[in-house]
Amino acid sequence: MNFQRVDVQTHAKINLTLDVLGKRQDGYHNIRSIMQSLSLNDRVSLTKTEGGISVECTHPEVPCGSSNLAFRAAQELKEAADVNYGVHIRLFKNIPVAAGLGGGSADAAAVLRGLNRLWNTGFDINKLREIGRRIGADVPFCLTGGTVLAEGIGEELTPLKPISRIWMVLFKPPFGVSTAEIYNAHDRLKRKYSQSTEAFLVEMEQRNIDTMVAAMGNALEETTADLYPEVANIISRLKARGVQKTFMCGSGPTVCAIAASRAAAERLKKEYTDFNGKIFIAYTVPRAQVFLKRERKKGGEGWKKGSLHL
Ligand code: ATP
Repeated sequence: MNFQRVDVQTHAKINLTLDVLGKRQDGYHNIRSIMQSLSLNDRVSLTKTEGGISVECTHPEVPCGSSNLAFRAAQELKEAADVNYGVHIRLFKNIPVAAGLGGGSADAAAVLRGLNRLWNTGFDINKLREIGRRIGADVPFCLTGGTVLAEGIGEELTPLKPISRIWMVLFKPPFGVSTAEIYNAHDRLKRKYSQSTEAFLVEMEQRNIDTMVAAMGNALEETTADLYPEVANIISRLKARGVQKTFMCGSGPTVCAIAASRAAAERLKKEYTDFNGKIFIAYTVPRAQVFLKRERKKGGEGWKKGSLHL
C-alpha cells in the first residue's frame, strides 16, 4: 500500500529490575534488566515529503534538530534504505522527558517502524533492531516491547512470558537527569553489583506477582538519590505512607510506587496534591507500539488502533 501519512502510538519502558554489571572498554555499561512496556505513550505522526527530514514537537525542552532521537532514526533509516523520500515528524509527547522512561528511544523506534511502512523499505525486525542499536541501547527493546530480559548494554533481548497487569504511580520530579552523569557517578562511587534480576526471574517461574514485585529493584537508585536528594525524599515519604514497593526508573529521577489496583493508584495520587512535579498512573502492557488509524467521530476526529505488521 502507498501511504502518505502514518501514525504510531509508542510506549514508555520501565526497568522492573536493573543490575549494573560493570563498565566496558567502549565506555558503555553491561547491564542485566527486566524491561517492561508501560501504558504511558507518545504519538508519532509521520508525513511523507520529497526530500529532507524535519521534526516538530509539543514539548518545549525537546530539541527538534539532528540531536532528536526521532530525527536520527529517520536519518539512519534513510541511509540504510538509500531512498530519496523525506519525512516531517510530529511528536506528541506524553512520556516525561529525561525521566528514565525511555521516551526518546520510544520515539526513535516509532520512526523506524513507521518509516519502514511509509517509505516501503521492507526491512524485517532484525534489520530494524540493528539500525536501532546505532541510535541508542533501548531502541531495540522499544521496537517490540512486552516483558523482556535485556543484557549486554540493553540490546541483547530475550522475550519472557507476559506478566499480568501491574498498576503503578510514577512520581516525576520537576527536573531531568542525564543518564551519562548517573553512570559516571555510579562508577566513581564504586557501587556494588546488585542481583535483583536473577531473583525476579526465579519468582517469575512461580507466577507469583507478590514475590515478583518484592524482587524489583534498581542498582542506580542509591547513586541518583545521593546526587538528587529529591529522589530520596520521594522514596522515604512513600515508605512512611506504607507503600510496600518503590524503586527508581532507569537512571531516574522518576520514582515508581507499585499499587494493588487502579483504585489504589488513584488514591495514592490524590494524596500528593502538594507534589512539586508530575504524577502519572500507568500499568504494564504487552507491547511497545501500535499503528493508529484516524477515524471520524461525532464531535471531531478520533483514533482507532490498527495492526502492527512491519
Ligand atoms: P533513557 O532512560 O533511555 O536515557 P530518558 O527517558 O531518561 O531516557 P529521554 O526522555 O529519552 O530520557 O530524553 C533524554 C534526552 O534526550 C533529553 O535531554 C532530551 O532533550 C533528548 N531527546 C532527544 N530526542 C528526544 C525525544 N524524541 N524525546 C525526548 N527527549 C529527546
